[in-house]
Amino acid sequence: MMEHTQSQLASDKGKALIEIQQVVKTFTNAAGEFTALRGIDLTLHESEFVAVIGKSGSGKSTLLNMFTGIDHPSTGKVVVEGVDIYAMSESKRSLWRGRNLGIVFQFFQLLPMLNLLENVMLPMDYVGMYEVNERPKRAMELLRMVGLEEHAQKLPRAVSTGQQQSAAIARALSTDAPIIVADEPTGNLDSRSANHIIDLFTELSERGKTIVMVTHDATMTKRTSRTVVISDGVLVNETIAQALPLLSQPLMRELSNKVERVHFQPGETIIRSKQTVEKFFMIAKGDVDVVLHGRGKDDLVISQLGTNDFFGEIELLRGGKSIASVRAGSENAVELLAISREDFNWLMAESPLTEKAIGDIVQKRLEEKKQSDRRKRKGLFGRK
Ligand code: ADP
Ligand code: MG
Repeated sequence: MMEHTQSQLASDKGKALIEIQQVVKTFTNAAGEFTALRGIDLTLHESEFVAVIGKSGSGKSTLLNMFTGIDHPSTGKVVVEGVDIYAMSESKRSLWRGRNLGIVFQFFQLLPMLNLLENVMLPMDYVGMYEVNERPKRAMELLRMVGLEEHAQKLPRAVSTGQQQSAAIARALSTDAPIIVADEPTGNLDSRSANHIIDLFTELSERGKTIVMVTHDATMTKRTSRTVVISDGVLVNETIAQALPLLSQPLMRELSNKVERVHFQPGETIIRSKQTVEKFFMIAKGDVDVVLHGRGKDDLVISQLGTNDFFGEIELLRGGKSIASVRAGSENAVELLAISREDFNWLMAESPLTEKAIGDIVQKRLEEKKQSDRRKRKGLFGRK
């Protein structure tokens, strides 16, 4: 039942830039075979700021290497603007990479015999971008942007690890590539410098660049437009990861196999009020209105829920009938992931943290409902 939604979601997002299709990566060495990626489907779009998170060893760097062209898949495809990059010649691929990707490596890989300014200029020289006499000026601007202006003439070993990392970020920006790929770019930075880099990435994505950032810091995901979770070489369903972030990764994966994907047309009723609710729903796409019905045509929309929100939990946890009706928003079709009561109960038992978080939301929503009921009784119902 689990399927990937990225291609279906493509219409809401920018243009698809990179499509990773059924990618498997197996390493063979003296110890035998190890499969680091086990069938990855992922589409990256224009102007997205994507966090790739997962434990150490889960396959994050390997995944990046699949589309930076540093390594290649064992099976599967990586398609860029309709072209399979591994069907290209080596030289064509290398040119594609130079023009399209700015890469911040996990271990920076600054050239030790070049100063920071020269390191930043290197990619411009490589792809032949900007006039030769413009390059130092541009490199200096980039160093200023990451706070390294005063260190431009120093060799990498003469500055701190964090400063080397910032220089590597400046270098990745030097060719103005549409896609910036960064492997743990804030891993060696203090929180102030890390925030500065995230601000910079946010600004770049707002200006249309695609940023793909690997991090093991789950709090970073609050700042990105999208989070992709990888666990033992498999992507976790994005809706589940966002809606129920406190689940452990194995539980997220188990849940992925239990959800049913259901669709509703704009305005269509999903739950009728005063009916028994037997499912928990997470919104994968679109939004829903929570509605109280009055006499005649007087409906009151008490709240709107959007992508990655959930509903149905009040009824499942408290037993009993729905306290309001829920219908698909009037503009767009809605895609939901539904979980049966039995699976919901299983999940609550397996993850006390999630149970607590959902319990808090139930409290809040019941309070809001009470206020709406009060408004309804006071006769404000239905009026604009
Ligand atoms: P992450 O970046 O999430 O920490 P990696 O993608 O670097 O993880 O590695 C994923 C898994 O693949 C790890 O178990 C790692 O040991 C293994 N791996 C990575 N590169 C190689 C390689 N060149 N040869 C053998 N195993 C590798
Ligand atoms: Mg890594």
